[in-house]
Amino acid sequence: MKKLLFLFDTDPMPSVFDTVVAYDGGADRVTGYANVTPENVGALVDGTIYTRGGKDKQSTAIFVGGGDMTKGEAVLAAVKKRFFGPFRVSVMLDSNGSNTTAAAGVALLAKAKKLKGKKAVVLAGTGPVGMRAAAFLAQEGADVTITSRTKDKGDQAAKAIEQRFNVKVKAVAAPDDKTRAEAVKDANVVFAAGAIGFQLLPLSAWKDNPNIELLADVNAQPPLGIEGIEATDKGKERNGKIAFGALGIGGLKLKLHRACIGKLFDSSEGVFDAEEIYALAKEMA
Ligand code: NAP
Repeated sequence: MKKLLFLFDTDPMPSVFDTVVAYDGGADRVTGYANVTPENVGALVDGTIYTRGGKDKQSTAIFVGGGDMTKGEAVLAAVKKRFFGPFRVSVMLDSNGSNTTAAAGVALLAKAKKLKGKKAVVLAGTGPVGMRAAAFLAQEGADVTITSRTKDKGDQAAKAIEQRFNVKVKAVAAPDDKTRAEAVKDANVVFAAGAIGFQLLPLSAWKDNPNIELLADVNAQPPLGIEGIEATDKGKERNGKIAFGALGIGGLKLKLHRACIGKLFDSSEGVFDAEEIYALAKEMA
C-alpha cells in the first residue's frame, strides 16, 4: 500500500520545502493543494477518509502548512471536524515550520539549562515560530515576554498564545536596537524569531550582560538575528553564554519534521501539533 501524503497549504502555492521533507520522511507520493481554507477543505478530507479501510487507512495522511499560522490552525480545526468514528487519518500542522522549528529550538535550550523560573524574551515573537517558541518556553515554566515593533501586534500575539496554550506571556514594543537591548536587559534566555535576514540584537546588547545565559536565533540568512553568534552554533559558548544558531537548531528541526512525517503513517489517529511535536523534540534533542 503506497504511503500518500496530502499537503493542504494555505498559501497560493504548495510549499516545496514541505514537499521535499515529506518524501524524506517516508511518504511515497506527496500531493500539494494550494489556497486551502476551512470552507474548501471538506471534499479534500473526504477523499482521504473514504478511500481506504481498516489498517490500509494509515497509509494516507494529511499535512497542513503555509505561511500563516492562524489560517493553518483554522484548516486543522476544519480537517478534524470532518473526521468521525473510524473515518479519520493522521494529520500534522506545521505552518511555516512553526511547530518543528520552535520545538527544536526550545528543546535544545531546555536540554542545555533548566528553563523553569528563568526570564525569557522572544524577539519579534509575533510570527509563527516566535509564538510557538514563546508558548513552549512558558510551558517549561519560564517568565516570557515577546517583543514586536508595535504594541498592538505584540498584545494580539500574546492573547492568541494564551487562548491556544493557556499560558500568560507579556508583550512589549521594541521597534529598534535600543528598545530591544532594553527588553533583554534582565533576560536569562533570548530567542530571536525575527523575519529572515534581519538583525534584531547587536553584539553590544548581550556580550557583557551577566543575566543572559542562553541565546537562540532561528534566522539563517545574514545578517543573522543576533550579532556575534554563528548560524552553525549548537551549544557553543560565546562570551560566557550558550548559543544556538539557525543551522544548529535547523538540524534537529529537519530530523523532527521527518520523524513526524514517518509517524503519520503509524496509525490513522495521530494529531501532530505543538504539544505532540514538542514532546518528540525533547526526546530527540
Ligand atoms: P515571520 O513571520 O516572517 O517574522 C517574524 C516577525 O519578525 C514578524 O512577526 C515581525 O514582527 C518581525 N519582523 C518582520 N520584518 C521585520 C523587520 N524588518 N525588522 C524587525 N522585525 C521584523 O517569521 P516566522 O515565519 O515566524 O519565522 C521566524 C524565523 O524563523 C525566520 O527568520 C525564518 O526564516 C526562520 N525559520 C528557521 C527555520 C530553521 O530551521 N532554522 C525554519 C523555519 C523558519 P513585528 O511586526 O511584530 O515586529
